[in-house]
Amino acid sequence: MLMKRCAGCGEPGAELCRRCRFALVAAPPVTTSSGIVAATQFVGLSKDLVIGLKFRNQRRLAHHLAEQLSRRLDPTQIDIITWAPTSRRRAHRRGYDQAELLARALAARWRKPCRRMLFRRHGQAQTGRTRADRLHGPSFDSRPLRNPPRVLVIDDVVTTGATLLAARDALLAAGARSVVLAAVAATPDSLNRPAQVRPAQVRPAQVRPASNSTAAMAGPLSSSTTTPYSPTASAAVTLDNTSSRKAVRPATASNLVSASS
Ligand SMILES: [Zn+2]
Repeated sequence: MLMKRCAGCGEPGAELCRRCRFALVAAPPVTTSSGIVAATQFVGLSKDLVIGLKFRNQRRLAHHLAEQLSRRLDPTQIDIITWAPTSRRRAHRRGYDQAELLARALAARWRKPCRRMLFRRHGQAQTGRTRADRLHGPSFDSRPLRNPPRVLVIDDVVTTGATLLAARDALLAAGARSVVLAAVAATPDSLNRPAQVRPAQVRPAQVRPASNSTAAMAGPLSSSTTTPYSPTASAAVTLDNTSSRKAVRPATASNLVSASS
């Protein structure tokens, strides 16, 4: 029989050692640029744990990650919990849906009902698709909802936010009173990129913060979405044209660097 090891640090013992449990609790929550609450960033320990849950069959980690989620959310605002289902093919291959495990663990902790409410339209999986594909995300259908409930939708990792936003649309269309979206972890990328496909941005490299910690601190404020280009002006600008670039610089300066002269 294999020796059990901590999924965080590899120490022999429980599936998550005491030290790693504390480290997980101490990790700060984040909100993505699309407004989704995540218990932590998808880096370091929390990344290891989500990967353990998702790809290494370490199902008991769902309880630890759900505990982390429960600290970030207000159960009095929730009537029922559901999850953004993975594709049937992937759930079948793994033998479980990690988002469902998380939702059920959280529901058990809160003593709230947990029910499957969402169904993928085309059975696509997000993992392995290109980023451009993922931006469009899957689409869902929801069961019809009576006595309009306040719904919490759980997912494991937020990348673009497209999956959870599609889940919210389906639930609202089916009659939910309100929908809260939450994930265990958000990729650093999700904190400063808009969820929808937008027109090409001028000089995107300068818009992105230099490090993960900056991204967490700056959040949506560092996003380029507030840059006040008019559509006609940005369509006319080409990156190689220095005179055009000079002309747009005043519009971007306040958004990018406060100390520019
Ligand atoms: Zn450990």
